[in-house]
Amino acid sequence: MAQGHSIPLIDIAKLFASRGVKSTLITTPLNAPPLSKAIQSSKNLGFEIEILVIQFPAIEVGLPQGFEITSMATTHEMKEKFFQATFLLEPQIEQILDQHRPHCLIADSFFPWATDVAGKFGIPRLIFYGPGFFPMCASLSVILYEPHLKVSSDSEVFTIPNLPVEIKITRNQVPIFEQNANPFLSKLLKESRECEERSYGIIFNTFYELEPAFADHYRKVFGRKAWHIGPVSLCNKAAGEKTEMRGMEASLDEHECLNWLNTKKHNSVVYICFGSMTNFSDPQLLEIALGLEAYGQEFIWVVKKEKKEKEEWLPEGFEQRMEGKGVIIRGWAPQVLILEHQAIGGFVTHCGWNSILEGVSSGVPMITWPVSAEQFYNEKLVTEILRIGVAVGSEKWAPLVDVKKEASVKRDAIEKAVAQVMVGDKAEEMRSRARALGEMARRAVEEGGSSFSDLTALIEELRSL
Ligand code: UDP
Repeated sequence: MAQGHSIPLIDIAKLFASRGVKSTLITTPLNAPPLSKAIQSSKNLGFEIEILVIQFPAIEVGLPQGFEITSMATTHEMKEKFFQATFLLEPQIEQILDQHRPHCLIADSFFPWATDVAGKFGIPRLIFYGPGFFPMCASLSVILYEPHLKVSSDSEVFTIPNLPVEIKITRNQVPIFEQNANPFLSKLLKESRECEERSYGIIFNTFYELEPAFADHYRKVFGRKAWHIGPVSLCNKAAGEKTEMRGMEASLDEHECLNWLNTKKHNSVVYICFGSMTNFSDPQLLEIALGLEAYGQEFIWVVKKEKKEKEEWLPEGFEQRMEGKGVIIRGWAPQVLILEHQAIGGFVTHCGWNSILEGVSSGVPMITWPVSAEQFYNEKLVTEILRIGVAVGSEKWAPLVDVKKEASVKRDAIEKAVAQVMVGDKAEEMRSRARALGEMARRAVEEGGSSFSDLTALIEELRSL
């Protein structure tokens, strides 16, 4: 019930269906229409894929009817209630399993109770964990060794213990729920981690070549069964799938957007998007606008705001001055379609795992601006391990409902990071590394590739049970 989770899960259902496995997606009324649109081309290809709708118990926890998407929560209280409601889904899932008798249940890591429900019917439960092996290993090491408790200040740098590569971070950047600082979220995280040990295994949306040391480390050191089957977004290859809806209806005409990009030189446009949940304050948005204008950078910028007469977050006359040079998408962007266009030369990202994989798959270097969740770990993967990005200088983790009011990243830092990724020898080196990774991603999902083979192995193992 958040696009960062539902989009890859839809792709996973499509992947299973494309291998001859009947797939059923379970969702709630508000989330059902976008899901239906997203699986249409799979259905047209004759794959067995369907949707079942259950009710979301919003009213039961004191939320209004129709409150069915995580990003609707604008306060901590709403978010907690939302998570409480997800625990009340259990009886409906049990009923569905009873009626339909599937051979396997795949459920998001936020549903720890799903393992017990699957157990009642004697079927394996696989966990879908959104991010990749690297952030998972970093998170488990932080929880296990608590290095953040051994430093004297929030800004003191420490090494995350027992990882195959030295990674340094500060307490400011460690997710608050891993620091035991939020009782509700910490409990949820603990339950999710515990259920990893009781579940059949975990599916990762990643590919081996992206993070081999961490794929091995996770399996060997933490001893869990895992399958890497991504980048799952690359499953959308057939005609019509690329323009098919992903998550939400795009807020602009896709063809118009592509036509605009067609008029631009290769690698000349920067794409800026902070995922489905992050909402920056007006002062922060203003800094981005000023940074773009000062540098004269061509751009596509996605802002989760509706058009208004007076817009505090835009400098006076910005859009008129930027006409032809930049496009602001208010609402939802067709992200994968944009990233794959050859005019896109850089991606300013909040480092959500899906965005990173989509950037990697498109061979685009990144300007990293982590905000919340496990995004600060993901930034390290991009900038220090893969070396296909430059950090904008975001220093402090924030809960999503509480993104800071002031502008913590200033225009000069934005301008500098964008320039480092777009021009010069270093930028070219980054771009060629990003391209090579994009090639590897594509090969991974082709027949015989690492992700293709791991999915085959998973299906065969499930069939043998
Ligand atoms: N996305 C999109 N258009 C938007 C914003 C997001 O298509 O305007 C998609 C993006 O391609 C990705 C997902 O939404 O697949 C966001 O997931 P991610 O893990 O990057 O970030 P989150 O939204 O979970 O913070």
